[in-house]
Amino acid sequence: MVGASILEEGNGSTSVLTKKRRLRITFHFPGEGAKRVGTEAKKLSTMMLDPVVLDCPICFEALKIPIFQCDNGHLACSSCCPKLSGKCPACALPIGHIRCRAMESVLESICVPCPNAKHGCTKNLTYGKESIHEKECIFSQCSCPAPDCDYTGLYTRLYFHYIYSNHQMRYMGTSLFSCGESFTAKFNIRDKILVKEECRMTLLFAVQCFREPYGVYVTVSCIAPSAPRLGKFSYDISYTVDGHTMIYKSLEMKRVLEVSFETPKENFMLIPHSSLRGELLKMELCIKKLEE
Ligand SMILES: [Zn+2]
Ligand SMILES: [Zn+2]
Ligand SMILES: [Zn+2]
Ligand SMILES: [Zn+2]
Repeated sequence: MVGASILEEGNGSTSVLTKKRRLRITFHFPGEGAKRVGTEAKKLSTMMLDPVVLDCPICFEALKIPIFQCDNGHLACSSCCPKLSGKCPACALPIGHIRCRAMESVLESICVPCPNAKHGCTKNLTYGKESIHEKECIFSQCSCPAPDCDYTGLYTRLYFHYIYSNHQMRYMGTSLFSCGESFTAKFNIRDKILVKEECRMTLLFAVQCFREPYGVYVTVSCIAPSAPRLGKFSYDISYTVDGHTMIYKSLEMKRVLEVSFETPKENFMLIPHSSLRGELLKMELCIKKLEE
């Protein structure tokens, strides 16, 4: 397989018209022994490339396969193509039927370092597919859930940051808990969020509530990338009022890099207004690791 890796140079300006970035790309050519089974010998070749050539000339987004070309060789990406009514915007010749295989193989041959390379990730990714890996990358940066704190860091660093910066009012009781064991979660509905700390896995979990017309929605998410090695979680909520207990068993828990304060559309417990007693929400919660 032919491959290349890219290092971005320059000031990282985002303006399409003013960007004067250069890419130093490393192409990987199969070596002589590459055809032998199990041999990964590759020769490297470094070149400079203007990254503009990897963008669609119409929408300026990064080109993705399939790429189309007109009879004159002008390019259009697959999102632009249907909007052109079959006419090339540069020369008016037909466009939309011929693929540009040459450009497609250039894209396939380029590898870019993970956007988290500066944080320690050594993965090289196919150009244009970085975002798929970024969600799972263990080095993805997570945002502190405390209001007015703009700290971001690896999920473990965020854990220690949260503990040592004393964001939470500790007199409400400890925020530490152990996965698989029930604990009482008590917080004011107005506070909207309660952060719990799992010390063995150094993970933060956000218990959130949302006041809606039918009642209060309660949901739990884990502030970490979706890296498979962290496992999967679910949670059970048990809420008791006037001797009646409501139980909610969640689906797989959402993993987020940043806590969202938008009302969830799924995976939440609804406590109707008639079952609420004042502003204090007190429930039994159990966060569990799902078996692989
Ligand atoms: Zn386009
Ligand atoms: Zn054209
Ligand atoms: Zn990565
Ligand atoms: Zn913070």
